[in-house]
Amino acid sequence: MTKRLYFDRPDLLEFESLVEAVVVPSTEEPRPGVILRETAFYPTSGGQVHDTGWLTLDAKDRVRVTEVAEQEDGRIVHYLEASVRAAEGTAVGGVIDSERRRDHMQQHSGQHVLSAAFVELYQMPTVSFHMGDDYCSIDLATPVVNAEQVAGAEKRANQIVFENRPVQIRYVSRAEAEKLGLRKLPPAERDQLRLIEVTGFDLSACGGTHVAATGQIGAILLRKTERVRQGTRVEFVSGERAVRAARRDYDALSESAALFSAQLGDVPNQIRKSFDDLKVLRKQKDDALEELAEALAIAALNEQPETTGRRVIVRSFGDRDTGFVKLFAQNAVRTGIPAVALVASSLDPPSLVFSQSAGGTADMGTLLKQVLTSVGGRGGGSRDFAQGGVPAGTNVEQLLRQAAATIEA
Ligand SMILES: [Zn+2]
Repeated sequence: MTKRLYFDRPDLLEFESLVEAVVVPSTEEPRPGVILRETAFYPTSGGQVHDTGWLTLDAKDRVRVTEVAEQEDGRIVHYLEASVRAAEGTAVGGVIDSERRRDHMQQHSGQHVLSAAFVELYQMPTVSFHMGDDYCSIDLATPVVNAEQVAGAEKRANQIVFENRPVQIRYVSRAEAEKLGLRKLPPAERDQLRLIEVTGFDLSACGGTHVAATGQIGAILLRKTERVRQGTRVEFVSGERAVRAARRDYDALSESAALFSAQLGDVPNQIRKSFDDLKVLRKQKDDALEELAEALAIAALNEQPETTGRRVIVRSFGDRDTGFVKLFAQNAVRTGIPAVALVASSLDPPSLVFSQSAGGTADMGTLLKQVLTSVGGRGGGSRDFAQGGVPAGTNVEQLLRQAAATIEA
């Protein structure tokens, strides 16, 4: 098992060691890697993601460490960006990316404090912890976490941060640990347990890297909650991530407020008002279109001379959609004057609507089918009303003339 320097010195970012083994690239794992006698690099485990950094071999070959993983035998492999000339016993200097490590310490320590706050206030135990690139989350064993509980846990967790309580590492036997009332006892049988203690607030067994005092967590900001299979997932960000998240949110909200020429806090009201206005305007537009369709239909009917006991209105609209064309056709045939309306919209996609007054002698459904077949359109209907669509670019005026000629024949 590789000696883990971060267990006792989570602040250690530079160290010296010796190569214990070189991992030769294989088809399964094409990256070269090295195992060291001891390391300060943290391997992905316990919800915390691995460190990155640099190794200098034999005081000259500097190579990037892109991933650090724990093998089943407890040895830690440092995966390297490029292969290096190294053998067992080669001297190694390690340097860990400090910003990434600090971020992980803030997230992981923030998680301990937050999990303890949920237990203290609402008896909601944490069943798992996930650290992502943007945000972190804990899964709580509870079907629901309401907004008040989110705010309550966030407040309590940040109180613990502000009090800057020491975070201590200690080792106890499993038997001792069982008597200490840990928030979480690991399932694996191990003789010695590493405990992380947030003084007077939380005690749990954990192998992760943590801050030395809660003030270093910076701040804990809770984000969304969602129902998951094992309970409720609570997203959160700590430290610098919390600052970045707040900055992003502020920028988005500022941009929204500027669009409304409103104060930040007034944005939700402005959006609500806009939705209400929109609803009214839609209704007004629909009413106006209906009135327009009716007026145009009546005007067309009045202009059209009667032929064989009815008036045949043929009309194509280049600026109105199918909905309007339908309204026009329906209005043209229900005034009491026997009429046939053969109407089209040439907007993309073009459409045809054929309609006749009740009791008319033609068959709109059949007529429409006839003209559609010639251009590969689709549609249908009844004796008195039919509608259909035709491919883009079809000459709809031509189809209307064809239909008119058919019923006037
Ligand atoms: Zn932990």
